[in-house]
Amino acid sequence: MLSNEIGWNFDNTYSKLPESFISKISPIPVKSPELTIFNYNLAEKLGLNFSSIEKNDLSKLFSGNLLPKGSKSIAQAYAGHQFGHFTMLGDGRAVLMGEHVSKNNERFDIQFKGSGQTPFSRNGDGRAALGPMLREYIISEAMHSLNVPTTRSLAVVKTGEDVVRENILQGAILTRVASSHLRVGTFQYVAIRNNESELRTLVDYTINRHYPNIKKSKNKAIDLLKVLIELQIDLVVNWMRVGFIHGVMNTDNMSISGETIDYGPCAFMDTYDPQTVFSSIDELGRYAYFNQPSITKWNLARFAECLISLIDPKKEKAIEIATETINSFDKSYETKWINMMRDKLGLFGQDQKDQVLIIDLLTWMHKNKADYTNTFCFLMDENFQHNKIYNDENFLTWKKRWKERLKLNNNTPEKYLSLMKSVNPLVIPRNHKVEEVLESANNNDLPPLKKLIKVLEKPYEKTKENIDYQSPAPASDKKYKTFCGT
Ligand code: AMP
Ligand code: MG
Repeated sequence: MLSNEIGWNFDNTYSKLPESFISKISPIPVKSPELTIFNYNLAEKLGLNFSSIEKNDLSKLFSGNLLPKGSKSIAQAYAGHQFGHFTMLGDGRAVLMGEHVSKNNERFDIQFKGSGQTPFSRNGDGRAALGPMLREYIISEAMHSLNVPTTRSLAVVKTGEDVVRENILQGAILTRVASSHLRVGTFQYVAIRNNESELRTLVDYTINRHYPNIKKSKNKAIDLLKVLIELQIDLVVNWMRVGFIHGVMNTDNMSISGETIDYGPCAFMDTYDPQTVFSSIDELGRYAYFNQPSITKWNLARFAECLISLIDPKKEKAIEIATETINSFDKSYETKWINMMRDKLGLFGQDQKDQVLIIDLLTWMHKNKADYTNTFCFLMDENFQHNKIYNDENFLTWKKRWKERLKLNNNTPEKYLSLMKSVNPLVIPRNHKVEEVLESANNNDLPPLKKLIKVLEKPYEKTKENIDYQSPAPASDKKYKTFCGT
């Protein structure tokens, strides 16, 4: 029903993969679904039209109480290193409804998160709470507008059921849209089964779906590894650019499509400190801001291990090739990171002293507890928020050096400002603002949530609405902590 008008076009290739990869399962219906938020812009991008669907039916559709025609729902099996320890996992509270293929032939996974127990639930209830699902909605959509590759959020529906965590919370289901839900952990799951034919199936499936340009390659496994290394470097450089801290970079939370996935205890850094960690469970700072590149490399090494048997029939040779490939990470990351920082500072071309100039600014920010985002806002516009830390002598000396460097390579204020404005956001989802709107939403007051989402749609534009969202949290908030969204 309804699907002809909506435009769903499901083609469920993953459900045709070997039985061991999946479990066929439907979302478990919920008591009284009520739509909290719906992303009409994203629906339009998917070629879906919900304009004539009443809220009541939207609530049923995005809670799993009414199944979209053509969907073949499954839970996906995967494994993963969680904080360094290998575990068998799988979709324990999510169901993949299928792959929707849009009119321009783009394929999107449509997944319900919080949809009830599956064979992979272990001791969990398969459910999710409203706060964390709205948080994923806000932050994933903000990341999209910040031009960071990411999964997206189509809807959040309250289930009308309680979920029991430390407190009793309102249950909710998020509809997540992704290029795919293939993870490093999917490869780990298949590799550990020691079945080369299944592994080849997964590699071929991935290449067909995401990287058809390497379909004919002589050594598909190594080329897949090379592609993923570069995509993940691009991704983590983007995170570093906007001050995003993922918080739980386990291998099951690293996507093979190069999108940011699984928004749990993630948050944006305010005061610049490379060791920033928000997640309450990351006591050792494994996933701290500045560790993110080396963890990305570590995760990619786990990915490479899965592919060894396909890289070369001689194990030693395969390990040698894989190691050399993984070690290309460092140089490439360094180059991409420094170029990204050059962009943030409006610098064209290269100068030998660029690295020192960049590090000196970051060191100054760290020592002086400067706000990461707002320091770049200040460099783009000296009238921006009169913060007296920018009168600091060391900062002024640094600024002189920067101004000198700006004069190189035919730079002009128009050129450098336009470059800076394209990469330095004016607004990010600041932790205190996110918490504020989540609290209101929990009490059924949705306008603050909707306003924040709207502001975050245009993070690079100066607007009247942005101003209220640019200030860091008051000092009393400094011990901000995030919790896993379970
Ligand atoms: P995450 O921390 O969201 O990446 O989840 C890690 C693993 O725990 C995945 O296999 C999830 O499916 C599973 N999981 C998380 N929360 C729940 C829950 N409430 N019920 C069942 N499984 C869960
Ligand atoms: Mg996960």
